Amino acid sequence: CGIVGVLGTHEVAPTLVEALRRLEYRGYDSAGIATVNSGRLDRRRAVGKLHNLSDLLVHQPLPGKSGIGHTRWATHGAPTEANAHPHQAGPVAVVHNGIIENYRLLREELAEAGYSFATQTDTETVALLTQHHLSQGMAPEQAAYATLERLEGAFALVFLFEGEDDLMIAARKGSPLAVGHGEGEMYVGSDAIALAPLTDRITYLEEGDSAVLTRSSVRFRDAEGQQVAREAKRIRMDA
Ligand code: GLU
Repeated sequence: CGIVGVLGTHEVAPTLVEALRRLEYRGYDSAGIATVNSGRLDRRRAVGKLHNLSDLLVHQPLPGKSGIGHTRWATHGAPTEANAHPHQAGPVAVVHNGIIENYRLLREELAEAGYSFATQTDTETVALLTQHHLSQGMAPEQAAYATLERLEGAFALVFLFEGEDDLMIAARKGSPLAVGHGEGEMYVGSDAIALAPLTDRITYLEEGDSAVLTRSSVRFRDAEGQQVAREAKRIRMDA
C-alpha cells in the first residue's frame, strides 16, 4: 500500500521506517524493509503496526545505506510475516503496490522451471522471475526490464539487488510513484509526502514510466521503453 526507497549516505533503516510512518494514513496490515549492506541483501518484516517493525529492528538491526520499505494492504495471501514485503528471491528484493493480474500463469511457468514458493502473494512471482533472469546471466537492469515486460495489472514496483549498493529500479503502471532528488542521495516513494523530510525536489513518474536510480542520477523510460526526460519540480509540502 505504501512504498519507499532510499539510496543514502547514512544508515537507511530509520529513514525508511520514518518514511513509512508518513504513509500510515493509507492503512496497512504489515510492514518491512530490505537493505544492501557491503553488497549483502537482507530484510526484516513484521505483521501489524510499524512499531512492531521498529521493535524488531532494535533486536535485529538492519545495517546498510541503501534500502526499500513497504506497508502492505494484502490483496493476495493473508497478512502474515511470510507474505509481507519486501519479497526476496536470491539476489533480488521487491516491494509492490497493486496487483499482478497474471500471477497464476507466472507461478505455473516458474514452478515448471523448478522454482518453489515461500508466499501466497502475487508479488513473489516478480521477485522469482527476476531471480530467474539474473540466473540466465542478465545484468540487474536487464533482468528487471525483462520481468516488467511480463507483468500485467496495476503496480508500482521497486527492485533492489545484492551486490548493488548504488542501484534501484522503479516502475509505475496504474499506481503512483515519485522520485525524490537529494544531495548525493536519491529517493523513491509512492507518495511525495513520504519524502517530505528528505527533499522537496520531486519527479512524478508518468503512467508506464520506469526509472533506473543511483545516488547521482536517474534515467527515465516511458511506456514504450524510450529514454525520456522527466522534469524535477520543487513542491511545497507542509511536513
Ligand atoms: N498485491 C500485493 C500483496 O497482496 C501488494 C498489496 C499492496 O499494495 O500493499 O502483497
